[in-house]
Amino acid sequence: MMKKENVYFPRDEIRTTLLPVTIGCAHNECAFCTMYRDDPYSIVPLFEVEIQLKNMDLYTERIFITSGDPLSIGYEKMKEVLDLIGKYLPYCACVASYASVRSIKKYTVEELSILHHSGLRLLYMGFESGYDEALNFMNKGYTSKDAIEEAKKLNEAQIPFNTVIVIGMAGKGKSLESALATAEMINQFETNKVYTMNLTVFHGTELDNKIKKEEFELASGKERLIETMTLLRNLNKEKRTLFDTTHPANVVSLKGYLPDEKDRLMKEIMRYHD
Ligand code: SF4
Repeated sequence: MMKKENVYFPRDEIRTTLLPVTIGCAHNECAFCTMYRDDPYSIVPLFEVEIQLKNMDLYTERIFITSGDPLSIGYEKMKEVLDLIGKYLPYCACVASYASVRSIKKYTVEELSILHHSGLRLLYMGFESGYDEALNFMNKGYTSKDAIEEAKKLNEAQIPFNTVIVIGMAGKGKSLESALATAEMINQFETNKVYTMNLTVFHGTELDNKIKKEEFELASGKERLIETMTLLRNLNKEKRTLFDTTHPANVVSLKGYLPDEKDRLMKEIMRYHD
């Protein structure tokens, strides 16, 4: 993940034109997150979005909508934003955005399908884990069952998405259960990419306080390696899916397509383990 002032975007979107549609995060309660702690949530007025679009290069081909969860604005506003992008940037072939299980819940499959046809072509979904105990402990605000339901809606609406997973989120001694539950969750939907990030503790977060009060113990590097390995081993993807652990904070750096390159990836990860 990259950052410009208080604007965050995925590494894959480093060259993409950014368009703020909301400020902050509508949830803002995840125990490990500091990203928008100081930015109260608000929606950028449509006329401001329009001014930004008017000032962009006519030939802009890709837009990344910024803030924690822009789809929190709901169907009507999202459709208006996409229509404005279409009006001012006629060569834009892809609008991408972060999204959450909570915000996708607000949309019907039909609405998601209309947004897809209006230009919404890629979502970065922060599922984080399929292990309910960890989701609950970190205040994610949904269960793995919710996550599967919303992912299936995206599949039905044909909106492609990347799946972001946080390794170590269940804490010490729970890596195996966490990896198995996460693989089981991901196996129930189609996703372009499974992207893992290491759980990082930021000063002053709820997670930091829980660690100080000995309510949470961090998984070791070896446990996180076993978690990544177990996740990879148990992913049964028939459709081409990129498995990517190249985020700089991870304990292991791998990248390759499932199912074709799974054996190569497993051999590589075993070398880290030995
Ligand atoms: S939903 Fe995302 S941006 Fe918002 S608090 Fe949770 S991790 Fe942070």
